[in-house]
Amino acid sequence: VVETRGLVKTFGDDVHACASIDLTVRQGEIVALLGPSGSGKSTLLRHLNGLTRPDSGDIRVLGVDVVTAKGAALRALRRRVGVVFQQFNLVGRLTVMENVLNGALGRVRGPRYGIVTWPKSVRVEAFEHLDRVGLADRAYQRAGSLSGGQQQRVAIARALLQRPELVLADEPVASLDPETAASVMDLLVRVCREDGLTMVCTLHQIELALQWTRRVVGLRRGEVRLDEPTGALDAVRLRGLYLSDPVTVP
Ligand code: ATP
Ligand code: MG
Repeated sequence: VVETRGLVKTFGDDVHACASIDLTVRQGEIVALLGPSGSGKSTLLRHLNGLTRPDSGDIRVLGVDVVTAKGAALRALRRRVGVVFQQFNLVGRLTVMENVLNGALGRVRGPRYGIVTWPKSVRVEAFEHLDRVGLADRAYQRAGSLSGGQQQRVAIARALLQRPELVLADEPVASLDPETAASVMDLLVRVCREDGLTMVCTLHQIELALQWTRRVVGLRRGEVRLDEPTGALDAVRLRGLYLSDPVTVP
């Protein structure tokens, strides 16, 4: 589903955000990207739906060559990829239902305002997803009035209405308190499993990765330093990702 080969991305002269990354993710896998701040997790994720262009290397996602795709081909790919952000990215003044319906914008033609202008079948589907994330009773409330955890649940319902094949989540629970973070992670992983979706998710809490994902890819300074099933993780190497670099004393 995802394949990068020799992905290189440098910012300025010396920030090697991605230093030749080879990553393969198969259908249905739930993968956590771990690593210290600045190790390149978000940059790698952004390459996968063409938000960032590599300096060199190959990237194939859902059979599409992301490096050369542009215009309609890139938009078509992005419709097949659901994204979940740390800050939820809902339209706060719109209702919960309208936000979820926005997930269908790519596949249902024409700009639509309000709820009744959407085809009934899409409204029913949106409501089902809202029910799945446990917020059916909030459908007509303003999205901005919900708690962080609820907003992220709405964002997940919106992504699902896209009928995605791949989900990319960048720190989906980093803004939430520990208890809410665990329940949103549980939901996200559960819906992906139920729908057979592939997910790549950056996390900054090791515990969440260990509990909710089956495979951990560890980055450090733009390099893949470990890539193992969660159950077989080498604690020393995992900790090594986060060790600060030795200071060279002249
Ligand atoms: P965090 O855990 O803090 O989210 P991260 O692992 O997601 O970190 P990235 O955001 O991918 O790290 O950043 C990797 C490196 O690339 C950092 O040094 C960052 O400053 C740099 N970087 C990322 N995006 C840009 C940009 N648009 N312009 C310049 N430098 C950038
Ligand atoms: Mg990041």
